[in-house]
Amino acid sequence: MRELKESYDIIVVGAGPGGSCSAYASSKLGAKTLLVEKSQEIGEPVRCAEAIPGLENLGIELDSSFIRSEVNGGYIFTPSGRKILVESDKAKGYVVERKIFDKYLAIRAANAGAKVAVKSNVVGLERDGDEWLVEIEYLGEIYKVRSKIVIAADGVESNIAEYAGLKSKKKPLEVCSCAEFEMVNVELIDKNKLEFYFGNEIAKGGYAWIFPKGDAANVGLGVRDKKKKAINYLYDFLENELVRDRLKNATPIELKVGGAPVSGPIEKTYTDGLLVVGDAAGQISPLTGGGIYLAMDCGLIAGEVAGEAIKNKDWSEEFLKTYEERWKEKYYNMLMNHLKYRKVLEKLSDDEIEELAEVIGEKLEDIDLKKFAKKILMRPKLLKYFKDFVF
Ligand SMILES: Cc1cc2nc3c(=O)[nH]c(=O)nc-3n(C[C@H](O)[C@H](O)[C@H](O)COP(=O)(O)OP(=O)(O)OC[C@H]3O[C@@H](n4cnc5c(N)ncnc54)[C@H](O)[C@@H]3O)c2cc1C
Repeated sequence: MRELKESYDIIVVGAGPGGSCSAYASSKLGAKTLLVEKSQEIGEPVRCAEAIPGLENLGIELDSSFIRSEVNGGYIFTPSGRKILVESDKAKGYVVERKIFDKYLAIRAANAGAKVAVKSNVVGLERDGDEWLVEIEYLGEIYKVRSKIVIAADGVESNIAEYAGLKSKKKPLEVCSCAEFEMVNVELIDKNKLEFYFGNEIAKGGYAWIFPKGDAANVGLGVRDKKKKAINYLYDFLENELVRDRLKNATPIELKVGGAPVSGPIEKTYTDGLLVVGDAAGQISPLTGGGIYLAMDCGLIAGEVAGEAIKNKDWSEEFLKTYEERWKEKYYNMLMNHLKYRKVLEKLSDDEIEELAEVIGEKLEDIDLKKFAKKILMRPKLLKYFKDFVF
């Protein structure tokens, strides 16, 4: 492929939302950029429930080709069926067709000037002076392609950052195992609401979901459990009394499996000539497993910083540090708070989940943190989990 016979300012590894947004931003600044994807088709296979909040804030033109549903909130269900309404501006968003959305983002990068190489697997990185030789396997041949900066946007199974000496590998229980059927003929409670189901029998260490998606719905779950597989939790969920009547005529049109890293951000996301973005960097909510928005926004920041580095002829660790400063300022506290909440949630028994829901009430937005803290003080079973929280 002729794209693999040139040298580049920036090579972005992985054409997920993080990689394509990085390539878009660096190309816009005039950096010669190559976006490399190991799959033969960008956007495939899909491993996602496809819900994204606030796409408008990222400068995305809302295109009917990929928007499948508009959502304005959701319902959280306890194991007994108690329902909490979540309705705020933050909960507004879309359910997209990722096969089309991911391609749209890659096309946007290409239109900004990036070259794209598909079915091209990055299998190694070698330092050559202050540049990289990026080893790319394409149709049985290895190409060594020169680049000043590499952006590792290679997702949950990331090893590109490890080649450069950073720690991005996740341990098994740091990743939520997910299984999901896209189904048709699902009876939805509300076609504009996401549904979340909690409980140790339903999804240990995670939650189950039903997300409206146009004529279909994504019905899935994520778990952290060494003993029972996500797919077996999913079969049981389809028969759970909370949902089985509404799913009785439903039938799958796609099975999606994958992992969501939920242990928080990795320790360091930059080094000489390299940045780490998206799931590879742990830029995904440890509480919800939502990572598309974060991967995109952090990808845009990475692309801008890398583009500036090329303009300044300085891609040292010292210069690239700005990337980590910028994304942390926006998201680090939120990610660490979500990690804290997730650690509490995973310890709760089903009875304690019911009790917590009772304290929260019928609407999440109605929570007054001071009143919540007072109520928790009266509940010794819950107090032990919240004693280190500052309200
Ligand atoms: C079942 C499930 C449901 C989810 N639901 C949601 C949801 O509803 N909303 C949400 O916001 N998030 C969701 N997530 C998380 C979301 O999918 C990720 O956070 C998001 O895709 C991260 O984007 P990314 O660009 O970092 O990585 P990815 O989208 O994983 O993209 C990485 C890309 O890198 C490529 N790649 C990897 N290694 C190499 C290599 N060596 N060479 C070349 N290419 C390589 C991969 O093929 C892939 O295309 C879900 C995750 C799972 C598993």
